[in-house]
Amino acid sequence: SSFWKYVEEGPLDANKATTVALKADPNPNKVNLGEGIYKDDTGKCPVLPCIREAEARLAKANADHEYCPISGIPSFCKSASQFAFGADSSLFKENRIATVQTLSGTGALRIGADFVAKFLPKATPVFISDPTWVNHRALFQTAGCEVRTYKWYDKAKNALDIDGCLKDLRNAPLRSVILLHACAHNPTGIDPTMEQWKKISDACLERNHIVFFDNAYQGFASGDPDKDAAGFRHFINQGHQLIVAQSFAKNMGMYGERVGALNIMTGSEQETTAVDSQLKIIIRANYSSPPLFGARLVDMVLSEPALKKQWFVDVKEMADRIALMRSSLVQNLGKAGSKLDWSHITNQIGMFAFSGLGEKQVMKLRSDFSVYMNKDGRMSIAGINSRNVEYLAKAIHEVTR
Ligand code: PMP
Repeated sequence: SSFWKYVEEGPLDANKATTVALKADPNPNKVNLGEGIYKDDTGKCPVLPCIREAEARLAKANADHEYCPISGIPSFCKSASQFAFGADSSLFKENRIATVQTLSGTGALRIGADFVAKFLPKATPVFISDPTWVNHRALFQTAGCEVRTYKWYDKAKNALDIDGCLKDLRNAPLRSVILLHACAHNPTGIDPTMEQWKKISDACLERNHIVFFDNAYQGFASGDPDKDAAGFRHFINQGHQLIVAQSFAKNMGMYGERVGALNIMTGSEQETTAVDSQLKIIIRANYSSPPLFGARLVDMVLSEPALKKQWFVDVKEMADRIALMRSSLVQNLGKAGSKLDWSHITNQIGMFAFSGLGEKQVMKLRSDFSVYMNKDGRMSIAGINSRNVEYLAKAIHEVTR
């Protein structure tokens, strides 16, 4: 008999479960607020003009298909890390960042998780926000880390629970790993103000925590990559030695090409060499080396001025459309007759809004209106457009009146 008879079917995570439910609904007017993929107003996930141009240049360059080095394309690693830390950062002169190319943001998190699991004391807990992106817990647990949570969301106020967060960070064991979202917090859409970032940074410094930033939306949140990086760059100015995972899935629309990077700040050039060698050992035993295509394109966009200029236009357009759909939804809720306070929808930022809807309301939206969001009330703003926003607002009003 088969070796695998005893293997049971495992559960889908919350995000993927929403997609499966949506696919099964035959209603042609169904509204997809599940997936975290940017769509333009016509409902399509566009290839950004800057990437199209880079593709054309790459095609002319007659590039080969040789193996990529284990740690990725060196020029990509440099441009990605300059994008995160700022090209004028003294860290580059001092050679104090070890950077490797990864399989998008997920791959960066996983290589980072393997690294901390291997090189920090066994008992070091990893703290993730409550709530957070569904995959964070799985990534760190699979790497062998003990995962705990710190408070983030105040349900009653639909805002950041800054006091609860600071308290949890201060009560965490010395030298814990703290995973923070650089911007566009997923799923809540709630980012700290600069004042709040300063307090979070201070609390982590007091406890000597190892701060790990998941930087999956730089530029996509506000349209300005430096503004979106301001939170974690403050930590660097305060003397933190950060780990930063980067993704180019959202900000460059490179989802399926898996373009990302992991950066580990070190104390010296010598440490950088050592850390880099260890990251290579982890990568080599996982998938040997990353793919070339997407990283070549992103490298071109980040390093060629004309392409970079176009990218600024492209990313701003996405951020602006998301902001417009937030305000349009709130306006239409008012028009539909809702007397509830929906200001959190416009106060939040990034791909997702944490609507405040409960599971019962979410399920009613599915059954009565073919509107699909995650059971926790997270909705992807990217699924809203000028054609469905009025329908969506009426549906939400119906289930919340
Ligand atoms: N972190 C967060 C917070 C995310 O929302 C995502 C994408 N949903 C990722 C990381 C990773 O995405 P990818 O692996 O596609 O870069």
